[in-house]
Amino acid sequence: MKGKVYLVGGGPGDPELLTLKAVKILGRADIVMHDALVSREVLALAAPCAERIDVGKRCGKKLLTQEEINALMVSYAKSHEVVVRLKGGDPLLFGRAGEEITALREAGVEFEIVPGITAGFGAAAAAGFSLTDRRVASQVLFTTIQRDTDNRSIQWGGISSTTTLVIYMPGTDYARVMQQLRDAGWPEDMPCAIVSHASGKDQEIRSTVLAKLADEATLPAPAIMVVGRVVAEVAEEIGREFRIAPEIAEKTSRPMVI
Ligand code: SAH
Repeated sequence: MKGKVYLVGGGPGDPELLTLKAVKILGRADIVMHDALVSREVLALAAPCAERIDVGKRCGKKLLTQEEINALMVSYAKSHEVVVRLKGGDPLLFGRAGEEITALREAGVEFEIVPGITAGFGAAAAAGFSLTDRRVASQVLFTTIQRDTDNRSIQWGGISSTTTLVIYMPGTDYARVMQQLRDAGWPEDMPCAIVSHASGKDQEIRSTVLAKLADEATLPAPAIMVVGRVVAEVAEEIGREFRIAPEIAEKTSRPMVI
């Protein structure tokens, strides 16, 4: 084997949120295999002579299968010194890194993981709330709501109303998200924030409460949802109506069914 594969976190969008190590490795890259979500500004930091390959998948339209991506990485490592597998956010969250690491190990390819700032952290920083807060939230769950599954992705055991949920890939059907959260016993007045293009030029932030989530206009992808009491801290700043209707407030003492 000639080269080494670097699984690099490209962060949420703003190139200034990259690690120094990511910038250094990008600058030495021979090959950059990147996802669709990686921002143009981040890609611009790759060595000018680096070959850039978009292996991204978007809206279900697959450009390459995961197996093909794995095979490409392995084959590039045979012919090139510095192969960068550049992923949005952090490579180890919802990025199929597990499968890629297995493939690299099996092929005996040397690799290194360079963490990045995940979208959830980028979104919380952009909106200005803490994900944990000793007054209201003692744990954080990074999760996803996928289409075509019946809430199988969220395992509700151990989750309480002092949990902050960070929902990746919430999709465009907010009514469905609302229903899933309701079914799990989340109270109607639970604050929810939606952050689109966190840290990027097109960043948009909305906040609402669970009962009104379905009324929100869908924000452009990529968007992430944060659900929890911590969001209330910034709701007013975000500038949305945050009063709770009495009939909703009544239900808030309902214990979570989990
Ligand atoms: N590894 C990535 C997540 C990949 S899954 C990370 O750590 O961030 C892709 C999902 O991440 C998107 O559907 C969206 O929910 C979220 N996401 C990625 N970039 C985002 C951004 N800049 N703003 C908001 N959400 C983002």
